[in-house]
Amino acid sequence: MVNPVVPSNGVLTPLGLDAVRLSPGFWGDLRELNQEVIIGHCLDWMEKLGWIGNFRGEPARGREFADSEVYKLLEGMAWARDPRFDELAETVVAAQEPDGYLNTRWSGDRYRDFEWGHELYCYGHMIQAGVARWRTSGEHAFTDTVRRVADHVCQRFMDSAEVCGHPEIEMALVELYRVTGAERYLEMARRFVERRGGPALAEVEFGRAYFQDDMSVREAEVFRGHAVRAMYLACGTVDVAVETGDTELLAAVEAQWERTIARRTHLTGGMGSRHSGESFGDDFELPPDRAYSETCAAVGSVMLSHRLLLATGRRRYAEQAERTLYNVVAASPASDGRSFFYTNPLQVRVPGQAAEGVNPRAEGALRAPWFAVSCCPNNLARTFASLPAYVATGTSEGIQIHHPTPSEISHDGLELRVETGYPWEGGVAVHVVSAPAEPRRISVGEHADLRVWAPGDVFAVDLDVRPRWVRPDPRVDAVRGCVAVERGPLVYCAESPEGGPSLELVHVDAEVPPQEDVVDGVVELDVQAATLGEAEELTLRLVPYHRWGNRGPATMRVWMPGM
Ligand SMILES: [Zn+2]
Repeated sequence: MVNPVVPSNGVLTPLGLDAVRLSPGFWGDLRELNQEVIIGHCLDWMEKLGWIGNFRGEPARGREFADSEVYKLLEGMAWARDPRFDELAETVVAAQEPDGYLNTRWSGDRYRDFEWGHELYCYGHMIQAGVARWRTSGEHAFTDTVRRVADHVCQRFMDSAEVCGHPEIEMALVELYRVTGAERYLEMARRFVERRGGPALAEVEFGRAYFQDDMSVREAEVFRGHAVRAMYLACGTVDVAVETGDTELLAAVEAQWERTIARRTHLTGGMGSRHSGESFGDDFELPPDRAYSETCAAVGSVMLSHRLLLATGRRRYAEQAERTLYNVVAASPASDGRSFFYTNPLQVRVPGQAAEGVNPRAEGALRAPWFAVSCCPNNLARTFASLPAYVATGTSEGIQIHHPTPSEISHDGLELRVETGYPWEGGVAVHVVSAPAEPRRISVGEHADLRVWAPGDVFAVDLDVRPRWVRPDPRVDAVRGCVAVERGPLVYCAESPEGGPSLELVHVDAEVPPQEDVVDGVVELDVQAATLGEAEELTLRLVPYHRWGNRGPATMRVWMPGM
């Protein structure tokens, strides 16, 4: 199965990149952009900055976790079957030490700093890249290197009390277990998950919640601390729970997820309210202008929702993944694929300044080509490359389409061709190309039909993509009294380029339905508005949030005060 996540049990079976092929459309185009531009962009930058040279023994450059960036790109290349994989993988393979250890920063001074050293975190990304290579094209010198790393980890850490400050290796080891059947990898992952909160790490300036070491994963009631770490740990915890049949552990993560989505997640699906510690805030602490909402946290959230969907079959996990994919993951890259948002705030008060070269800061009101900590572009590269894995699932009953997009999907004798203009249009036509003689269920979101299908049959559904006003939970003080507009899975925002109307004093009439206007295939919306203190009404143009910032420096807001 060519999929990043292949649980050995669960309500839904993932469909791999061999079973789902994306055609031109919203996600197909993004995957194409990734293969044509983003992967090469990341490769060029990491070569230029010496992060790849680190593996050749050149003087150390970049941050202590720079190895992980190379691994994330390798994973993306593997899912994309990019021919540049081999050369880059060879460079990594050559850097491995005889006992399996591999890290370009700490070699000779290994395992001294579990709070900040990131060695196990880097291995996690390396193992995921190895799994991707294994599942797309079989074994390789790189997969041998990955196994030696994993065996080294088991030998060194099975009976220790240590964990990595940055979770990631947990889910990677479970996936390596799924590929190889070697139970020590699962057991190692289980121990890393259960050790956390002992505590297993030293106190740091942000407190132990920063790396989820303040309490055990079983005791926690909500996600907290560094948002990316929290998401990655939860992914690994779900994986361990599923493989060991630990329903109590799975239920603990589900409960944490529920509260986090209801109280600590932005309308866009973005996670992380505090720049300090890149962390979740308290319940209902969701300031739109100070939203951190890191692209990587969104990637982690999609990975987690997908795991929970596979385990439970509950549609709300697919819906959250959809919200996050369309409104954070798709928002990060510029339309040309050559610059990226690291943080994804829901309001920008001051237009950004054009960024050339490496952006030293994570925050910025404009996309940047690269960052000093450049986790996000590489995370996008692997996510876009593996997008087909999220589109649909299978059961013995049929196929469930979670993200309607032009595609070809096959599972268990049922072959489908999906035609749709979604998310711009709500119509989805699922053409049956071939089908077994027994009844099969085809579902698109909540719509389902179970019958004996024949080639030529069409299962047509109309998803509601009428624009709608939405109101925040009144406990979110920062946006109380405000409204926003959604249309289908898309969140909209007002964007004002320099010289445009001020968004500071604008307020909108939520009694009047937004009017649609299609511009270059994109649905934009006009709403009735006025400026505080001025009698004259005005028409305010809203654009899909994921497209904002593509027309130069601008102010922007998702939440707008109502009249
Ligand atoms: Zn990131």
